[in-house]
Amino acid sequence: MLKDRRSRLFPFFVRERLDCLVVASLPNLRYLTGFSGSTGCLLLTRDRGWFVSDSRYTLQAAAEVPDLELLEHDRPLQALATLQQEQGWRRVGFEAAHTTVSALDEYTRQLPGVELAPLGPELDAIRGCKDPLEVAALGRVARLASDALLQLLPQIRPGMSEAALALELEFEMRRRGAEGRGFEFIVASGERGAMPHGRAGQRLLQSGELVTIDFGAMLGGYHSDETVTVALGTVSRRHRDLYEVVLTAHDRAIAAVRPGIGCRELDAVARDYIREQGYGDYFGHGVGHGVGLEVHEKPTLSPRSDGVLEEGMVVTVEPGIYIPGWGGVRIEDTVLVTASGCRILTGVPKSLMVL
Ligand code: ZN
Ligand code: ZN
Repeated sequence: MLKDRRSRLFPFFVRERLDCLVVASLPNLRYLTGFSGSTGCLLLTRDRGWFVSDSRYTLQAAAEVPDLELLEHDRPLQALATLQQEQGWRRVGFEAAHTTVSALDEYTRQLPGVELAPLGPELDAIRGCKDPLEVAALGRVARLASDALLQLLPQIRPGMSEAALALELEFEMRRRGAEGRGFEFIVASGERGAMPHGRAGQRLLQSGELVTIDFGAMLGGYHSDETVTVALGTVSRRHRDLYEVVLTAHDRAIAAVRPGIGCRELDAVARDYIREQGYGDYFGHGVGHGVGLEVHEKPTLSPRSDGVLEEGMVVTVEPGIYIPGWGGVRIEDTVLVTASGCRILTGVPKSLMVL
């Protein structure tokens, strides 16, 4: 399986005429090698692969990366320089999107006379289509997080702070076996709902308002991402109307998910509907993004995207309306693109829940 994943890099070897490719960003490293630690480096040629880590990770690397040649070294770049000389590599590719200016400086110093080939975000796109192991992992973590929220719903009531809600949700996820939260939860109540990324604060929830909760867990390195907007007590007609607009945009976009649809086209399904309903100025972000070893990854679903959905991709669908001084609504599910459409992985029902 990992070999199949690494073979997705071979087109880069041809296109960029690489002798060696260096991968050090943690999500790509985990995807390509199985390593779950915090520092390491994959050196890959067309027919060999080395995994370099320091002494803190020797045992872990031996257990997690059994199919590569392991090198223990305090300075991975020096290990690269030694191998480069031994193997006579002349052109070495690196992850431009994840390499700092000072790291590039170090590459240049350690590898004099070697051509360095920057590979852009297209390298991360190799993780776009999930294999069966990943689909299973994403399904598990999505269910875990949804079940945690469903368990917590009866405890959400006026007087509870946004921060307390976020904390209880994280406890519940961990009790169910999550490694942790997938990202800092967004809990935005009342007027704060107008902030698409409003962090959970000390504000107390009040009756008669909406609460947007954007949450996800992490399990086996994989993330989930889901948003519910719930009503506390009786909410106004306007709250309900806006909720229905966002829900219809969400449902229409999910119904449009299939292999071959353009990411921009899918974004437009939700965006055009929201615009037709008169709220076009209040939906600023893209309709979704890929989810996997990172909570936000390729592909991006926005008016500026030029990608196309493929079977096996796992993406969110999350339209929203945010009205400054009033509040907002976002509804988000994570879906797997299947041969005929999609399967929803997240599990909280999306009709308006009144708590
Ligand atoms: Zn989210
Ligand atoms: Zn999202």
